[in-house]
Amino acid sequence: MAERNQITIRIEGMTCDGCARHVTEALKDVSWVEEAKVPSWKSGQATVIAESKVNDEVLIRAIREAGYRGVVRERRPLEEERRAPAAEGADYDLMIIGGGSAAFAAAIKAAELGAKVSIVESGTIGGTCVNIGCVPSKTLIRAAELCYRSAYPKFEGLTACPPPSEWQLVIQQKDELVASLREGKYVHVLDIYPNITLIRGHAKLAGKRNVSIDGKTHTPGKIAIARGSHPWAPPIPGLEEAGFLDSTDALSLDALPKSMIVIGGGTIGLELGQLFSRFGVLVTILQADARVAAVEEPEISEALAKYLAEEKVRVYTGAHISRVEKVNGERRVYVEIEGKESTFTAEQILVATGRLPNTSDLSLDEAGVKTGKRGEIVVNEHLQTSNPDIYAAGDVIGDPMFVYVAAYAGGLAAENALTGAGRIYDLFALPRVTFTDPQIASVGLTDKQASERGLKVKTSVLSLKDVPRALAARDTRGLIKLVAEEETSRLLGAHVLAAEAGEVIQEATLAIRFGLTVQDLVETFHPYLTMVEGLKLAALTFEKDVTKLSCCAA
Ligand SMILES: Cc1cc2nc3c(=O)[nH]c(=O)nc-3n(C[C@H](O)[C@H](O)[C@H](O)COP(=O)(O)OP(=O)(O)OC[C@H]3O[C@@H](n4cnc5c(N)ncnc54)[C@H](O)[C@@H]3O)c2cc1C
Repeated sequence: MAERNQITIRIEGMTCDGCARHVTEALKDVSWVEEAKVPSWKSGQATVIAESKVNDEVLIRAIREAGYRGVVRERRPLEEERRAPAAEGADYDLMIIGGGSAAFAAAIKAAELGAKVSIVESGTIGGTCVNIGCVPSKTLIRAAELCYRSAYPKFEGLTACPPPSEWQLVIQQKDELVASLREGKYVHVLDIYPNITLIRGHAKLAGKRNVSIDGKTHTPGKIAIARGSHPWAPPIPGLEEAGFLDSTDALSLDALPKSMIVIGGGTIGLELGQLFSRFGVLVTILQADARVAAVEEPEISEALAKYLAEEKVRVYTGAHISRVEKVNGERRVYVEIEGKESTFTAEQILVATGRLPNTSDLSLDEAGVKTGKRGEIVVNEHLQTSNPDIYAAGDVIGDPMFVYVAAYAGGLAAENALTGAGRIYDLFALPRVTFTDPQIASVGLTDKQASERGLKVKTSVLSLKDVPRALAARDTRGLIKLVAEEETSRLLGAHVLAAEAGEVIQEATLAIRFGLTVQDLVETFHPYLTMVEGLKLAALTFEKDVTKLSCCAA
């Protein structure tokens, strides 16, 4: 019997039950398709069972000819029980270089598929997120936030808090949390899966299918590279000599400096800049772009810059640094802003200008693995590199660098490598959060991105002054902006600046993923006095003046 695949396709542009029928029929008409199902137009998805010779392009063309857009999200062999074939003559079926989030997700998936797998880690087990990234930064941010709020019940305070003397206490508690999560989420996981072996050492590729670990050569069936990334500092004259902190150094400072210049006004620069300011450090953020959080909607950048300024964080945009020097223990940064030369001085400089993939010193050329402009490993939609036996996942393949993307990619790369499942790396409806206070959370397209794609859009912008939860909490800082397709009202993007915006964004993520419309948001119950009710109000704002409504957005 011919091998059959189950193929999942995301369908865009369906607005009624008739559309679901059209797509189903179009797919059924394709030769060698045995079955096609679209559960409802709102699902935004079709499932097809077809012989494996039916390629993605044929299915997408059939959908396009029926008047819709399709993207293949997954293709896997039909058999429920897929086992990783034992790799002949290999000491491991899969060897993973790196021991962070992408690597652990890959190892667990491989172990569940019955494979013999090894993780090679040269540094601290658990990688960036748990040790020097998400966990330490978010726990310190929370400490500063709680104190800030409790000290200023009206939330209008301008001074920083808690006192700098409590920094060491907070750092100690952060270290305890990091150690316990590293133990629970990484080290103990190894005890649960006996077919995962941890090898300590520095791994390098040694030819097409060999890995050399501190001089010893292994020949695994497949290799997955999950080496992560490192902070990047721009080549500013004098910076290296003057000395500076990166995010890793900043999150484990023994003592707080009196003042700090943060170079970079993106996610990490904003999060850490506000954190240190709230601990009493005089913070200046220098951002080269015309606005902070430059990837977000302009309304959000502008409002956040204003809130930071109200907290006495000094924010300068369009700031082009010419050089840095250290004079009498103090760091000086020479900057041109709008054609005017200025000099800023501080005790410390924190550089937060992005991260680059860890791809040097791995002998990638020798193994036939190509890299891109920023040194990222180039992969296809199955996360396979230009060497068919080598896959890659996580920060090492470049942006977007988030831990939940790394973990998703790790599992997918392992499954594709071991079973040939052909699952597709699909980042549609990917939410992101910047943990400032208020937080920025976004999903989908901005107004500008939608227009650049030729979509005709409409937008609504709602101030948090019109959201009952924000009024009751006496914190009306923020706004919600929605982007929808003009003709169909399909939600294309949601952009939230609010306390706990990271929680609010998940509803919008589901709405975009499953092709829901603005009307669907309006017609869905939202509990009164929750921040997520703001999404419904923002949806209503397309048609109505919400300031004239009674209770509960009705
Ligand atoms: C300050 C900060 C805050 C962040 N906050 C968030 C957040 O709130 N939410 C979020 O989603 N993401 C956040 N991130 C991003 C997130 O941490 C990363 O996207 C994620 O950890 C990447 O996982 P990874 O497995 O790809 O790489 P890593 O976790 O970096 O793992 C790579 C591992 O490979 C090892 N290694 C490298 N080279 C070799 C070699 N040759 N041999 C053996 N081992 C090797 C390294 O030691 C490392 O342990 C943050 C990052 C930073 C820096």
